[in-house]
Amino acid sequence: MKNVLITGASRGIGAAVARELSERGYRVFINYNKSEKEALNLAEETGGIPLKCDASDAGAVEKMISEIRKYGGADALVNNAGISKISLLQDTSEEDYDDIFKVNMKSVYLVTRAVLPDMIKKHSGKILNISSMWGLTGASCEACYSASKAAVIGFTKAMAKELGPSGINVNCIAPGFIETEMNAALDDEARSELTAQTPLLRAGKPKEVAKAAAFLLSDDADFITGQILSVDGGITV
Ligand code: NAP
Repeated sequence: MKNVLITGASRGIGAAVARELSERGYRVFINYNKSEKEALNLAEETGGIPLKCDASDAGAVEKMISEIRKYGGADALVNNAGISKISLLQDTSEEDYDDIFKVNMKSVYLVTRAVLPDMIKKHSGKILNISSMWGLTGASCEACYSASKAAVIGFTKAMAKELGPSGINVNCIAPGFIETEMNAALDDEARSELTAQTPLLRAGKPKEVAKAAAFLLSDDADFITGQILSVDGGITV
């Protein structure tokens, strides 16, 4: 049985990825930070293992990875944990900037670094980073979020080059407008505008991102690395 760690798996896209991968026979490690009830319910539903940890805290991440090591270490990692804050740049505090970069980029660096020794030893592994369409195109009122997600894309490409010789694939999904709590703050006008700009004229479902994730983690994607797959209904075309 393959072990997969999904960060930020208590809700939204991460939870959908955990469900999809457990259905495909993976042992899922469900990382969460605050949403304990949701994570425990999902663990029960999927037979997965809940792991509470702030993915941007180096010490907590090392502890989390040593738990997974008891099961043979992670064969796959999905760096999904993320936060967004919507504000004009001049209304964005330094604390907002730090929070966004800590969760959206530093966690990707820390968790990837922590799983690597086990993957390198096995000379195999699949790492998937969740960026965003805004990391490709930039979003007004989300400059720091967009910059953090662009950083994830650069990190993905660099790691693909560095880890290819060790038999490890590193890819990225850039989701478009997906129905999750992250978008709960958007008003009706913003939602209609986003769906109108999407050629498929609707928001995506977390499950649709999860299916693309499952493909990139599967053996069918063994010769794919360093790629950014847009799962966005065509909005970035
Ligand atoms: P969501 O519903 O708000 O869920 C976010 C998840 O991240 C939660 O499970 C949350 O866990 C976790 N998380 C936040 N901070 C964390 C931390 N410090 N350590 C560990 N986990 C943490 O968001 P989502 O829409 O599913 O987004 C998932 C990813 O997709 C994010 O990286 C997001 O930027 C990206 N994305 C989303 C969209 C979209 O339209 N929804 C579009 C493009 C990209 P707790 O609740 O347990 O704290």
